[in-house]
Amino acid sequence: MTAKIIDGKAIAAEIRGEIKVAIDQRLSSGKSKPGLATVLVGENPASQVYVRNKHKACAEVGIVSYPNELPADATQEEVESLVRELNQNPAINGILVQLPLPKHLDEEKILASIDLAKDVDGFHPINIGRLAQKGREPMFTPCTPTGCMVLLEKAGAKIAGANAVVLGRSNIVGMPLALLMLKANATVTVAHSHTKNLPELCSQADILLVAIGQPEFVKKDWVKDGAIVIDVGINQVEDPTAKRGYRLVGDVAFDEVSEVAAAITPVPGGVGPMTIAILLRNTLRAAELADGA
Ligand code: NDP
Repeated sequence: MTAKIIDGKAIAAEIRGEIKVAIDQRLSSGKSKPGLATVLVGENPASQVYVRNKHKACAEVGIVSYPNELPADATQEEVESLVRELNQNPAINGILVQLPLPKHLDEEKILASIDLAKDVDGFHPINIGRLAQKGREPMFTPCTPTGCMVLLEKAGAKIAGANAVVLGRSNIVGMPLALLMLKANATVTVAHSHTKNLPELCSQADILLVAIGQPEFVKKDWVKDGAIVIDVGINQVEDPTAKRGYRLVGDVAFDEVSEVAAAITPVPGGVGPMTIAILLRNTLRAAELADGA
């Protein structure tokens, strides 16, 4: 079997196109542009690039960005007071606190200080709690895991009743992804660094979702014939033939796993582009909720 490639770049572009159309319609009916505030604490270069890319993507679809930067030694009170101010500002529909925060800050408390109706990153403990509970609905769900769910849907995956293995249990990806799969009625196993017999466990998955940050870790013989594989990992590996001296690979050995999977996401161009597309979608939704739509 040669796997079908799940083209995240194209799917994300389609979603961004739909958002732009919806925002144009809002404007022509006299409504305001949605607003997204970002909070960046410190000067982590990767975070600076991520935030910049988010602002650029916002501008392309007609969302107004409100960038906020605080120094690396900002106090807990300074960050929380900024979030409170953004909560009060009616022009701002979504608030994104870029993670990771400097170590001296209490991330949980800061995320909990975001107005639930503006929690477009979906990390507020109440939103995560609702995601974990039967019959409750979060206002927003985290962007990268939600992007994985959209890719599965676009790939025509039958999630209800499927055996799903989520490899990785981080707060940002693995755990919310496992909860989303459970809400979609998959039978979910969450594996992590203490899990025994990983290859055998993964080989039972109809849907294998991998988010561990280990280059090309999942091999062909870990994957069942006909499985759908979602690779969240983004890892730099040295490559002297590449212009930058490195290339990006996922957590899955793409070439060999493609020989057995029914469908697989590439890296780059799979899950990566979905994160920002879902952030934009959540921000538009927050604006619609604020209008009472
Ligand atoms: P974390 O480092 O926070 O979590 C890694 C998880 O993988 C942990 O649960 C850890 O287990 C588990 N793990 C690590 N090594 C192994 C191993 N050898 N065997 C089994 N389990 C292992 O990473 P993130 O979740 O933040 O990110 C994962 C990957 O996804 C990274 O490559 C990251 O760059 C990428 N990513 C991509 C995004 C995007 O596409 N937009 C967004 C976010 C992340 P334990 O809990 O036991 O320590």
